[in-house]
Formats: sequence, C-alpha cells, structure tokens
Amino acid sequence: MSPLVSTRDEQSSTSFIEAMLNPSAARGGLYTFKSLPTFTLKDIESFTKLSYAKLCEDIFTRLNLNLSAPVLEAALRTYEHFDNPLNPAPFLPFSENLFMLNLFSGPTRAFKDMALQPFGVLLSHFAKERKKPYLVLAATSGDTGPATLESLANKDYIKVVCLYPHGGTSDVQRLQMTTQSAHNCKVFGIEGNFDDAQSTLKHLLASKSFLQNLDAQGMALSAANSVNIGRIVFQIVYHIWAYVSLVKSQHIQCGEKLSIVVPSGNFGNILGAFFAKKMGLPLARLVVAANVNNVLSEFINTGMYDITSRQLIKSKSPAMDILKSSNVERVLYALFGDKRTYELLSAFAKEGKYTLTSAELALLQEDFCALDCSDEQCLQSIVEAFRAGFVLDSHSAIGYYVAKTLQAKGSIDKSIFLATAEWSKFAPSVQEALIKAHILPNMRAMESKEVDKAAIEAICNMAHIELPKRIYGLFSKPEVQKEVLPIAQVEPRIIEWLTESKR
Ligand SMILES: *Cc1c(COP(=O)(O)O)cnc(C)c1O
Repeated sequence: MSPLVSTRDEQSSTSFIEAMLNPSAARGGLYTFKSLPTFTLKDIESFTKLSYAKLCEDIFTRLNLNLSAPVLEAALRTYEHFDNPLNPAPFLPFSENLFMLNLFSGPTRAFKDMALQPFGVLLSHFAKERKKPYLVLAATSGDTGPATLESLANKDYIKVVCLYPHGGTSDVQRLQMTTQSAHNCKVFGIEGNFDDAQSTLKHLLASKSFLQNLDAQGMALSAANSVNIGRIVFQIVYHIWAYVSLVKSQHIQCGEKLSIVVPSGNFGNILGAFFAKKMGLPLARLVVAANVNNVLSEFINTGMYDITSRQLIKSKSPAMDILKSSNVERVLYALFGDKRTYELLSAFAKEGKYTLTSAELALLQEDFCALDCSDEQCLQSIVEAFRAGFVLDSHSAIGYYVAKTLQAKGSIDKSIFLATAEWSKFAPSVQEALIKAHILPNMRAMESKEVDKAAIEAICNMAHIELPKRIYGLFSKPEVQKEVLPIAQVEPRIIEWLTESKR
C-alpha cells in the first residue's frame, strides 16, 4: 500500500521515496500520510531503551516508509557530526515545569540540520540508484539554505539551487550561503521576501517549461523545503525523543501530559509534533509561538487565515517572517479531509483568506493553541534568560516567552519549548537586548559584516563562553556567491547555470 496521498486529492497516492524525489502532489497539494500508525504507553516505555537512531528506525518502520536498513543507517550516521553524537537533541531544565529542547547542535546551528542532514543522504542515495541527476531547490528564510548546502555539497547526482530573500536574513545566515564553494551548489539572493522565494519554488516545481528544460538536460527536480515530506518524517522523531528523555530522567512520568511550544514559521517543526501526538505521544497542547507576522496565532485563535491586509514585517526573528505558511495545509487535511482542504486553499489562492467553521475551529483548538510575541518582548525574554544563565537566540526566546506567559496564565502546564537556533546566528539582536538592559556597553556603528563578528566577541567575553567556532570561522571565508536576481530572472538563470556547470 502507498502510504502517502495528496492533501487535495487522496485518490492520488505514492510511495515515500517517490514523494521525496518528486514532492509536487496532485491538484497543487502536498504529500502527507493518509493515516498514521499509533503506539501505546507500553511502546513509549520501550522507547526509553532505544538510542536516537534506533528510535528513528522504529518510528519509520511503523510509518511504513520502506527504507532499507543500511540506507537509513547511513543517513542516521550524519548525527555523529552533532555536538553529542549520541544525543542530537538534548534537553535542559529551565525550571521545575519548563524545559528547553536544544535542536541546534548540528553543523549549521539551527534545527533544520535535524532533518536535512539525514535527508541529504537519502536523496543522494536514491538519485544515484536511479542514475538520475536531481536539481534540488531550496527556498530559505535563512536556515534551510545553509543546512541544505551543508548536507548536499559535493554529493553525487545532486545539484542545489538556493534562493534567499536578499536583505531578509541575518549576516551570518547569508555568509553561510555566500561562502559555499562546492561546484554543485548555486546561491541566488532574490529581490523579494521569503514568501516570494517559496512561491517561486512552488511555481518552478509545477512549471512545464522548467521541467521540460531540465528533462532536456537529463535532470529531474526535487525540493529541500518542508513541502518535502522527507523533511517532516525526521522532524517527528525528536518530539518523541524529547518526551522519552524527560521520562528517562524522571522529570515526567510515562503517560503524563506535556505541552510543546514551537517558534513557528512554515509550520514544519510543529507539524512533526502534531504527527507525534496523533501517533499517541501524550501531548497536551501544541503551542504555536509566533512573531509580529502573527498570521498563524490569529488563525489558531480565530479560525481565520487572512493575509489580505498584511504586509510582511521584518522582525528580530527573520526565520519566522512568513505569511504563507505551507504546512498548515497538512493539518487541514488531517483534520478536515482532502475536499475541504482543496476548497479552503482554492479560496486562499483567489482571495488571500479562508475561514474555518466554528466546529472546525473547535477541532483545531483541541490540538493547538497560540500566542504571538513582539520584538520588544522577545528582547526582554533574551535578557531574562541571560540572567538565569542561558543565552537564547531571538527565535528560541519567542518560544521561551510564549511558554512562560501561557504557563503564568494557567493555559498550559508542564512544557518544553524548542530552541531552534544557536544565539551566534543572531548575535546583533542578542547584543541589542543586552545593551538595552545595560548588561553590555553600547557599540559604535560598524560595517555590516563586522557587526555580527563584534557582537559575537562582545557576548562571548561578557558571558565567559567560547567563540562558537562553526559560525565564527565564516568571517574569514571569501563570499563567492553574490548574485542577486529579480524574481523573473530566476528560472532562466537556473537553466543557464545548469548548462554552464555541465561544461
Ligand atoms: C525555520 C525556523 C523556524 C520556523 O520553523 P518552521 O518549521 O518553518 O515553522 C524557527 N526558528 C528558526 C531558527 C528557524 O530556522
């Protein structure tokens, strides 16, 4: 049986490997699980005896992904390059009732590594097996791009094109892409924001002319964004791991309810938690933590997804500066079915909004709740955490803010918030917070690249922590990929690069 179907037409189904290689599903939908297997509390108890890799293998077997053991094992060996090879997602107790899950201990220091490191091995393996070279597109709000490049650089049968919003990322994020010198990788800044980058990617995935052009070059097309179900499956595992780790360390009892707070943008991270909950993980609430682009928290709280009167705002948490959040679609399908999903998303394409019925909203709120956080509240939370001995980045700080605020209101009880990036990727925001609180002295204005470097040095000095070597090393690398394109030029320029790079 094929386990994956289009969110907009469940008659159209495919295998996991096929969906990973070709993520564009029927009627403009996304591939997702038609139904999910479930596990019991007894199973969860047995999970406490497994390593991270074995837990992943167990979950993937239940999901019926049909990956052969040696291939999956090779993919999971990428976790050996994380800070602690045996625990790629360690938790920290923040207080008696609040924990933090560190998802940034991989090579590019953001949670995207959790899925993209093993995903890259799978993708390259199946491309090679088919003797078919793949072009892998990545549209990024800042962290998917670096993680995709890191995972796929120099891989056989793979070429990567990465699109990022020019001026819409932190300097460190940009340097992680523009200093990439692997021959099979191409990076373009685009004149637009992340929504434009993701729309361009979706357009290319469905563009007949583009596909014909690739075909003429003997190539096929895939994508590294969380539209690809191959990302999402790896993102289920660490939510289960977090719960099991808290059981193992006796912070919770097996079966006790836990809420998970997720700084959200494209909804791929929290979707992993949603699937884990549907499989039987005892989660109380899935909490969407949003920034000022609070379209997601408005949706969860009112049932109305409406971008008609919104302009994307540049916030201190740029990886969450998104209005068109792709993975909400997979939740709509799971709760309301393919016909309703098609109806709602057709309305969205036409009118820029859709509204759930009150019965549908009630169903959504059984699983989710949400709160947003302003830049000011984010910076204050960085300071508060810093005083307690934790250096948080400006995305993780939103998770912290939302968790403590909802706990104080009594809306959620025992919780874990997800730390999605190392502070070093967003050092100027951390520095600004600490300057406002008079913890760090004010700095004089500097050249852009120097700002991040100086901020990292100042924070390390003050907090007596070591320079974060994977990030700090970027400042001495040459920027070899500096092309910026208007959106209309993206398609022809990619074709041109493919032709050039063949010679
Ligand atoms: C990608 C990202 C997010 C948002 O995750 P989604 O899966 O898109 O919701 C949050 N924080 C950081 C640091 C990220 O890189």
